[in-house]
Formats: sequence, structure tokens, C-alpha cells
Amino acid sequence: MSDLLRGASAARALTERLAAESAALRARGFMPTLAIVRVGERDDDLAYERAARQRAAQCGVAARTVALPGDATQEALLHALTALSGDARVHGILLLRPLPAHLDDAAACAAIAPEKDVDGVTRASMAALYAGEAGFAPCTAAACLALLRHGGVPLDGSRVVVVGRSGVVGRPAALLLLRENATVTVAHSHTRALSEVCREADVLLVAAGRAGLIGAAHVRPGQVVVDVGIHAAPDGSLCGDVKFDEVAPIVGAITPVPGGVGALTTAILCQHVIQAAGGSA
Ligand code: NAD
Repeated sequence: MSDLLRGASAARALTERLAAESAALRARGFMPTLAIVRVGERDDDLAYERAARQRAAQCGVAARTVALPGDATQEALLHALTALSGDARVHGILLLRPLPAHLDDAAACAAIAPEKDVDGVTRASMAALYAGEAGFAPCTAAACLALLRHGGVPLDGSRVVVVGRSGVVGRPAALLLLRENATVTVAHSHTRALSEVCREADVLLVAAGRAGLIGAAHVRPGQVVVDVGIHAAPDGSLCGDVKFDEVAPIVGAITPVPGGVGALTTAILCQHVIQAAGGSA
């Protein structure tokens, strides 16, 4: 059986460090503050908001929610985001997405001040990530990297296959892995012979949003598998993009779902808020 790469233990270690960093900031008169902007009451959004607020409390980060009704106008959303961008007491802004279909996602993201863009959704953050400059990467992609680092997984010179090229996970994760000198292949829904491509990896990072896409045929012994997918089964249990029971006995290490990447994402969010507030976390 493979080792488990547990996000919870990485999150605990980071949370302790962040709480100390936040205490130092507060002693200097800064209260690191996150504003969460939610439109409507989607279950996913409410669950992530709850998890983020809980983690923020553990990290010494103040969190406030701006909740707009599901039928909020574009003007109301832009007004809320612009006000938070100009509010000196707020250091980080998290916009819960996807937005309802009647709202313009690109315009909403553009209304977030780049220095408060703790989830890396603005063009400025994307450009910084592309150029390898300072800025905030999307929290989930950054959490994948933090988890690999916490697990002591060598990346320099390693062959990494990322399955998925979304702007939220696959694409930014690939850029972050390049920064670590990994040899990165990005596979996606048009990739031919996916199982062969996956088997070439030392590290296989799966963010395809397809429950059980990766099975025994896609892996080989010794690989490290990071499963970003989260899917709710009809019985309420959670599973990932990887068939855990099939893959875990073959590979060297694997992230569980739940308790893998997702567990670390909110800690990375708080890290970004503390950095935006002037901390060195
Ligand atoms: P998405 O749907 O935006 O993108 C999926 C990507 O996977 C696309 O690039 C697509 O080309 C690729 N893909 C789809 N089917 C494929 C196939 N059969 N073969 C190869 N590639 C395929 O999804 P996303 O927003 O990137 O999210 C991916 C998964 O990660 C979802 O399950 C989501 O719930 C989960 N997620 C988890 C966290 C977390 O904190 N753990 C955060 C965000 C998303």
C-alpha cells in the first residue's frame, strides 16, 4: 500500500506558522482581514466559505462575508468589489465562483485590486504567474505545490503530468511546477492515449473534474499521485478523479479525498491574506 500525502497535516503545520505570523502583525497594529464575496447560496460556496472562515480563525485572520442575493445585478457586484478594493481595512478578497450565469465573470475579477487578489483571478496575477514574478497564484494550485513540498517529493528534473488545463487548477499548477524545474506535460480532454501519458509521470497531478477518470491502467509503481478532484457521491460521501482503491496499492504515494489538497487550500488562502497584509508568511 502506498504512503498517504495528507493535506491535513500540511495544513496544521502551515496554520501554526501563520498564527505566529499574524500575532506579530497584530502586535504592529495590522489585523489581516479577508473579505469573502458570495452571490447566492450555492451549497459548494457555503461549504467553502465555512471552511475558509474556520481556517481564518485558526490562523488569526479576520474574515467577513459580503453576501449578495442570487439575482444581484452586475452593478451591485462591481460596487461591492470596488468598495472592498478601496477599503484599507481589507487585505484580501475572495470572490466565490462560478458566478450565476447572468453575471460577467471577467468584469467581476477585474474589479478586484491586484494586491488584494489572494486567489489569483485578475489578469495582473495571471501575468505575474506567467512571468515568474511575485503575486498570488490560485489557492488550489498553490496548495498542490505546498503538499508536494511538505511530502518531500522531489520536483527538480522530475517528470510531472498534469491532467486538466483549467485556469483555476491545471494551468497555474503547471506554471508553478515549471518554476520548480519539473519537466511538465499538460494533458487534457483532447489528449490521445491518456493512460500512456500518465504512466510516464514521476508525479501525476489530476484535476480533470471527472470522478474516477484515473484507474490502475494509468499508473505504475513508485509514482506520486495528487488528486485534486472532489465529487459528492449519491450517498453523500466524497471521492476524487482517481479510483483510490485501484490506484493506491500500485503507486508510491497518493493524496486521499477528502483530506488531501482540499484540506490545504484554505490554509494557503490565509497565507496569501497575511502576505497581502504585509507579513512574510
Ligand atoms: P474544469 O472542468 O474547469 O477543468 C477540467 C479540465 O480537465 C479541463 O481542462 C479538461 O480539458 C480536462 N479534462 C476533462 N475531462 C478529461 C478527460 N476525460 N481526459 C483528460 N482531461 C480531461 O475543472 P477545475 O475547476 O479545474 O476542477 C477540477 C477538479 O478539481 C474538480 O473535480 C473540482 O471539483 C476540483 N477542485 C478542487 C479544489 C480543491 O480545493 N481541492 C478546488 C477547485 C477545484
